[in-house]
Amino acid sequence: MTATIPHWIDGKPFVGDHYTTSPIHNPATGEVIAELAHATPEEVERIIASSAAAFETWSQVSLGKRSAILFRFRELLVEHTDELAAIVTREQGKVISDAKGEIARGLEVVEFACGIPQLLKGEFSEQAATGIDVFSFRQPVGVVAGITPFNFPVMIPLWMSPVAIATGNTFILKPPGRDPGAGMFIAELWKKAGLPDGVFNVVHGDRNVVGRLLTHPDIAAVSFVGSTPTAKHIFETSTKHGKRCQALGAAKNHGIVLADADLENAANNLIAAAFGAAGERCMALPVAVVQEEIADELVAMLVEKAKAVRVLPGDHPESDMGPVITEQAKARITALIDSAEEEGAEILVDGRGLVVEGFEGGYFLGPTVIDKVNPQMTINQEEVFGPTLEVIRIKDLEEGIAIVNASPYGNGAAIFTSSGEAARTFQRSVHVGMVGINVPIPVPVAWHSFGGWKDSLIGETHMYGPEGVKFFTRGKVVTQRWPRQTGAVSFHFSGDAQK
Ligand code: NAD
Repeated sequence: MTATIPHWIDGKPFVGDHYTTSPIHNPATGEVIAELAHATPEEVERIIASSAAAFETWSQVSLGKRSAILFRFRELLVEHTDELAAIVTREQGKVISDAKGEIARGLEVVEFACGIPQLLKGEFSEQAATGIDVFSFRQPVGVVAGITPFNFPVMIPLWMSPVAIATGNTFILKPPGRDPGAGMFIAELWKKAGLPDGVFNVVHGDRNVVGRLLTHPDIAAVSFVGSTPTAKHIFETSTKHGKRCQALGAAKNHGIVLADADLENAANNLIAAAFGAAGERCMALPVAVVQEEIADELVAMLVEKAKAVRVLPGDHPESDMGPVITEQAKARITALIDSAEEEGAEILVDGRGLVVEGFEGGYFLGPTVIDKVNPQMTINQEEVFGPTLEVIRIKDLEEGIAIVNASPYGNGAAIFTSSGEAARTFQRSVHVGMVGINVPIPVPVAWHSFGGWKDSLIGETHMYGPEGVKFFTRGKVVTQRWPRQTGAVSFHFSGDAQK
């Protein structure tokens, strides 16, 4: 008998009369390790009602008290990092050090949200007109839903929930169906930190459950990260139902390597950014766009380094790279590599068919380096989300920028060069939201905001940082006068009487 993963409502686990379950696999072994309960319509209703009731009191709690809970939550995340990382590795497959890395990036957002009294200070204009002061501040929007992807089961709930909760909202997490355990553990830590019941709830399920969140009148905002078709569906449905929505989508990031780059440094960064987390990162760098005159030299380095990547279960102390998430993902990635070969690219390191001894049931693929890719090939048109590194050869920076800008996605892009002028031209010209200059994965620190352009972000506001605070709050402006005596009736619009 495997355990059933429950929902989390009013500060405790809850399994009701779920109408269906789905299996959770360990990607390193293929074994079923748990069953996930899917919420019935009545259970979704109950969870939303709990969050709506909690909003009435949580939104009245002082900034100082909210901030104190966030500080305690931060301490608990640090204290329980090992346990949380083990859950991530067991359900998602990434190596333990990488799981700890995603916890650290999420922790940064918690630290940012600890400063909520400073972030919500508002603005004040004294004597805006004679005897009149004007001030503006921001208030929470209500119950917000966070729908998150499988590849960062800790970091992405922590991109959203600390900011949403610190600003006075209540939060419903809908974790990914393939690795929901981390979301449940985070719920326990919020409880231990002293967060009142109902402020952070968790609901599991498929598109039916999500559909109820997107259309329910008591949900005010939806924050989503996942694939682009789902992002578009989430954005269209939730905004049609009067909610604000930010929906981050897929990515296909390019790293341009110019002839004047430090090639050893560029090669190390490309290998880490292509094969880290088995390429299952929205900020991975799966495409190296390389200036022709140094391409052979760089490719030789990439081949040597790719062959040295140790592919083992994520909890093995010598593992550099674990399995991909599912058998279906493995088959899809393999088919894309096949297509590159059929369309004339050269497979220099081939990860297809890799078997890890003792883990024959695991969803392993080895690092794959594909040279002489042209931008029209199927593999370059799609997000692979696996351990592949494509090489496209270019004559100059201008051609490289055109390739980056032809992509329908615009999450991140990087350049490796020693020329400040080339870097500046690149940073100004690329149509992406996040740029790395000799930095391969330019995920912004928490006091800036994270977001892409084009099909990588449907909606307007980026996530966490100042834009996160804006997304989870709405503005209010007060125009105030304390007259000693009322004057005569004035029919002027904001007119003379105020001056
Ligand atoms: P996904 O779109 O399949 O799922 C994301 C979430 O949406 C999950 O919780 C899932 O249960 C739910 N969902 C899936 N289909 C749905 C539907 N039809 N209706 C309603 N809800 C649905 O994405 P995934 O496979 O979990 O994650 C990988 C994708 O996420 C990749 O495309 C990756 O690039 C993207 N991603 C983007 C960013 C970013 O910052 N832009 C970050 C991480 C991941």
